[in-house]
Amino acid sequence: MSVALAVIGTGVIGADHVRRLTSGTSSVAVVTDIDAARAEAVARQYGVPVAHTDGLAAILDPRVDAVVVASSAASHAELVVAAVAAGKPVFCEKPLATTAEDCRLIVEAEAAAGRRLVQVGFMRRYDEACRELKRVVDGGELGAPLLLHCRHRNPAVPDTFTDEMMINEAAIHEIDLVRWLLGEEIAAVSVVWPRRSARAHRALHDPMLVWLRTTGGTVVDVEVNVNVGYGYDIRAEVVGEHGTFGTTPAIATHWLERFRAAYDAELADWVRAVAAGADPQGPTAYDGYAAAVVADACVTAFGVDGWVPVPIAADRSPR
Ligand code: NAD
Repeated sequence: MSVALAVIGTGVIGADHVRRLTSGTSSVAVVTDIDAARAEAVARQYGVPVAHTDGLAAILDPRVDAVVVASSAASHAELVVAAVAAGKPVFCEKPLATTAEDCRLIVEAEAAAGRRLVQVGFMRRYDEACRELKRVVDGGELGAPLLLHCRHRNPAVPDTFTDEMMINEAAIHEIDLVRWLLGEEIAAVSVVWPRRSARAHRALHDPMLVWLRTTGGTVVDVEVNVNVGYGYDIRAEVVGEHGTFGTTPAIATHWLERFRAAYDAELADWVRAVAAGADPQGPTAYDGYAAAVVADACVTAFGVDGWVPVPIAADRSPR
């Protein structure tokens, strides 16, 4: 069966998803954006028949089998809950929502629907370099992971980028990576603000060091450094008892380039599941919720000296 999709949000990643979803076993029936001109331009470019500005109407459109939410993060919760209420599978870009409370509402809506309907766009899980790192960690040759060093460097961000977005939009990828790679929850977090880069706008604490401690005692340092200028540079290195292994640094000009194959793979996997009427196999609504709980703890840790506990380590109820 070919799957007819609504893509909500036709900004940078939404437009790129429309491109990749208008081939193969899916088609895009509807695109929507609150910016009508943007939706119409993308519809024209990719030959999508319908472009409008109402995401909720797009979800309910009878031509639409499943929904891709690629709009700004603050809009995700309402749209995902509406798709779940309509019984339609929904792929939601990260973050699932901007607060843990909103993510919990999504988890509860899906539980009420009685089946898996949500996949979250934590595409690192589909990135070949990250998968190789996981194979090595799971293979056991490094011994117990003691430390994980992560680097999240962007060439630049707009002046609208905030300290909270350093966590919710950037470090959220590493938060999910840690849970997936190490198979443990994050028990405590700490955030350190070094001196500010002159390349960042004045209200932004850039760079930031985010520290995460897992339930098993692995300590993770994440350098979130979003105005480095020289390129998009994502790295992860596990230090184990018997050796180290890391993703090979591959500096790209843009995240669309660095993770192109991972976006292709995650959406192909999701479309395959939707077409077969099967549960999606990628990151769950609970994964989105768990990451958001950690992200909220990181924001609480702003300006706090020392570790801040993460409530999720004791709260696994929504799974
Ligand atoms: P963007 O600003 O380029 O595009 C967002 C679009 O959403 C805009 O066109 C805006 O008008 C539209 N929009 C806002 N509210 C809407 C609503 N209620 N209904 C319909 N459209 C709405 O941003 P972007 O970089 O494309 O990011 C979009 C989302 O994708 C964000 O959640 C972001 O975190 C995520 N993202 C994920 C990755 C990844 O690596 N997985 C990379 C980039 C962005």
